[in-house]
Amino acid sequence: MNLEKLLRNNIKALKPYSSARDEFSGEAEVFLDANENPYNAPYNRYPDPLQWTLKAKISEIKNVAPEKIFLGNGSDEPIDIVFRAFCEPGVDNVVSINPTYGMYQVAADINNVEVRKVKLDRDYNFKAQDLLNAANLYTKAIFICSPNNPTANLLDKTEINKLLTGFDGIVVVDEAYIDFSPESSLLPELDKYPNLIVLQTFSKAWGMAGIRLGMAFSQSEIIRVFNKIKYPYNINILTQQKALELLNNLQEKEEWVKTILDEREKLIVELTKFPFVQKVYPTDANFVLLKMHDARGIYEYLTEQKIIVRDRSKVTLCDDCLRITIGSPEENEKLRKALKELI
Ligand SMILES: *Cc1c(COP(=O)(O)O)cnc(C)c1O
Repeated sequence: MNLEKLLRNNIKALKPYSSARDEFSGEAEVFLDANENPYNAPYNRYPDPLQWTLKAKISEIKNVAPEKIFLGNGSDEPIDIVFRAFCEPGVDNVVSINPTYGMYQVAADINNVEVRKVKLDRDYNFKAQDLLNAANLYTKAIFICSPNNPTANLLDKTEINKLLTGFDGIVVVDEAYIDFSPESSLLPELDKYPNLIVLQTFSKAWGMAGIRLGMAFSQSEIIRVFNKIKYPYNINILTQQKALELLNNLQEKEEWVKTILDEREKLIVELTKFPFVQKVYPTDANFVLLKMHDARGIYEYLTEQKIIVRDRSKVTLCDDCLRITIGSPEENEKLRKALKELI
């Protein structure tokens, strides 16, 4: 892969904004360099633009060097930055699978970039060669999501590896749900694949969707480009502090994941028994995809019961499907009770 060839010319030439915090980041007593208000500490100060304290902690947990980590306002930010870094609007394109996470298409549309979608096969998996065939000279990136949303399954790792070796552009692998899956992350293979960008998030297993913190892992040259493009202070002080606090609570996160997985197994057994459930698709994530008789009707019934699930029945390959997140034991019980009343 030739990074210089993949990057847009304006990004290669970009001279990033240099903030007060960039120009001086050592120890000092009096800060009169950023036009901040001297009162209301600590919120009066601009946050660390590169979040080094937080990255040091994440680095320990993920076993990835801090300079190979990018932090964004949710995964949404690194997804958008992939387009802004590599795809010339109206010219370049990306390849992805269908169905998958909707944000790739939205970010592509905002950046006026075509998404070439390759339909998954009937068991929601893919062949690397089909994606490679969909690519042309203007394809800068391939987006993969594993476990995939909304289909819930892990994608074939050997096929993902074939993309990484067979495609000379960027391969983004979104691992938002990896903590719920039996498969290990691609992170240990980061150094083997210079074109790999792994996305993870604090929004799911870590229980922090509200603080908006997403991670991208890649070779340091790519992370440097991302840092150049992002807003200077993209992660605020409150988010950095809260994330640091929660990262010291590894055990709590493990317990949440374990409870959610136990609940998932119980719920699958019970859902399968309902006469209106045609199929519970295999899941490696914290949600299940169900094929049902009259999915829309059941969605509306559940809404009346104040239980909101996701109607995916209009999505490719998901006719008559609902996507249901695994909740707390109490929430799942309410779902079961409501569905029982339909029999
Ligand atoms: C939920 C989800 C994310 C998380 O997005 P954030 O912006 O980090 O909250 C990313 N990718 C997929 C596929 C998801 O389903």
